[in-house]
Amino acid sequence: MDVLTLNGITKNYGKICALNNVSFTVPEGSVFGILGPNGSGKTTMLGIVLNILKPSAGSFTLMGQPSTVNMRKHIGTLLETPNFYHYLSGERNLRIAAEIKGKGHDGIEDALRKVNLLHRKDSKFSTYSLGMKQRLAIAAALLGNPDVLIFDEPTNGLDPVGIAEIRELITRLAAEGKTIIMASHMLDEVEKVCTHVAILKTGVLITAGKVDEVLTNEDLVQIGAADI
Ligand code: ATP
Repeated sequence: MDVLTLNGITKNYGKICALNNVSFTVPEGSVFGILGPNGSGKTTMLGIVLNILKPSAGSFTLMGQPSTVNMRKHIGTLLETPNFYHYLSGERNLRIAAEIKGKGHDGIEDALRKVNLLHRKDSKFSTYSLGMKQRLAIAAALLGNPDVLIFDEPTNGLDPVGIAEIRELITRLAAEGKTIIMASHMLDEVEKVCTHVAILKTGVLITAGKVDEVLTNEDLVQIGAADI
């Protein structure tokens, strides 16, 4: 089954065309990278899928539902760094996140275990490394145990250790059966972490498919590998 199918999605902001007639399909169980340089339309794409933004044209189906149905509460998201309280513990922060999201507290321990933070659940957020902070953000996305996760640039701003931790976590979540859609401007990240990729440049889909079939030199020359 396909988790997401985009049919001719276009998004204009006034005269700016952020997405131009984009169509691709995200298979269930994939780690699907939306790859492109800054301004290529990745965040706009995620915003449309999450019903935060309305497309100017086109439609999509998400988890079998048409775009008119808002599936946001069934999806775990990491869109920007959440505002955690520095002086509260990781667990307390997750409890607050669960309340804000309208999720029960039952999944908190499980989410902490999945991101490998159970042993540090009582430590103050301010004592966490950058990678641990981002892992807590992913734990918040895991509340309610969603099958589909959407991450916007999940390793942005992290140090090398944090980047490695988050990439390893994404791979592990995929192995547990999650479908993960993630925006990235880093070709090497997509090569390491993703099974599938859609490459965007100035709102135009260059190519999409399995990473080992798509990331050929020819495609990279076309998009200009130096841009990514
Ligand atoms: P980045 O990594 O820099 O966020 P991106 O690939 O996610 O880039 P978008 O943020 O989706 O790209 O932006 C795509 C284009 O749409 C850019 O030209 C951007 O300037 C423009 N854009 C995005 N949001 C708006 C907005 N609210 N109003 C006007 N133009 C916008």
